[in-house]
Amino acid sequence: MSKYDNAKAMRELRKRRKMKKLCTRCGKPVEGEHVQCNACREYCKMYALLHPKEKVIIRSLKTWEVKNKKLYRLLLERKMTIPQLAQMVGVSSRSVDRWVFEGSIPKLENREKVNACLNAEVFDVEA
Ligand SMILES: [Zn+2]
Repeated sequence: MSKYDNAKAMRELRKRRKMKKLCTRCGKPVEGEHVQCNACREYCKMYALLHPKEKVIIRSLKTWEVKNKKLYRLLLERKMTIPQLAQMVGVSSRSVDRWVFEGSIPKLENREKVNACLNAEVFDVEA
């Protein structure tokens, strides 16, 4: 399936969900006039906050959670975005995404950089 077909299929899926009053993102029933459930609206707001220059993309993940709450909270507190932190550390935004949302642990060198950038002990740097 090409990227285009995929995007088109997603658009049609969202349209069908909207008509059935289901969340356009996860497919759960929605109350009121919203097109997305509370959890998805919260997610999109949060995602947009952390990725201000990127469009909020519908990720294929059906559920989401913040795995690294400490890193997430620090980014919000410091008003730092995921791309900004990624640039400071010298990794891709997708890597930082994985640290925050999927709980993956960066290699020692990057753990040290993150701690230094945020001036906090986000990651354990003991060997
Ligand atoms: Zn939803």
